[in-house]
Amino acid sequence: MFNFDICKHEGCKSYSATGYDYCLLHINESADVIENYRKTVMKQNLIRNYNIEHLSLANEDLQNKYIIVSNFSNSAFVDIDFSESKILFSLFQFSTFKNCKFNRTIIKYTNFAGSTFEGCDFSESDIVNSNFIGVEAADCNFNDSNLYYTNFTNAALSNVTFVDCNLKKTDFYRSKRDVVNFKYSNYEEAEFERSWE
Ligand SMILES: [Zn+2]
Repeated sequence: MFNFDICKHEGCKSYSATGYDYCLLHINESADVIENYRKTVMKQNLIRNYNIEHLSLANEDLQNKYIIVSNFSNSAFVDIDFSESKILFSLFQFSTFKNCKFNRTIIKYTNFAGSTFEGCDFSESDIVNSNFIGVEAADCNFNDSNLYYTNFTNAALSNVTFVDCNLKKTDFYRSKRDVVNFKYSNYEEAEFERSWE
């Protein structure tokens, strides 16, 4: 599905940015390139087949976007509003999200493994078959969301609420949970242990 080339900088394993031979870390004048990407992402509703690793974005309204088969790994998002967006088959691994909104989003088959979330609001969303393995989340809320088959294995969750969620097959194996609220959710249908242990 992804059809990305590797950055031509010697030893770099990142994918090259869409339209360039290098990743954003290794493009000269990357500030101009980022500004062009920012304008493109703002203008287009469909963001498909984009590879923009190492992006950093702040204070943007990305509501009602359709992000599909795209890679934003190793990126930083501060005060971004993704509400009402659809995010499918995309990569956001090892990224940081601070004060971001994901209200009423549809997130499917998307990978946030190793990312950090601080003060993020995912309420009233469908976040299914997605990967939150090893994430660190603090002061976040997933209330009123469907988290069917989403995987929080090894996640460190601190002050995170899952109130009135569908947690069927949601995997919390080996997660660290410090002040986590599952009120009104079917947490008995979630996975916390492995049967062979
Ligand atoms: Zn590179």
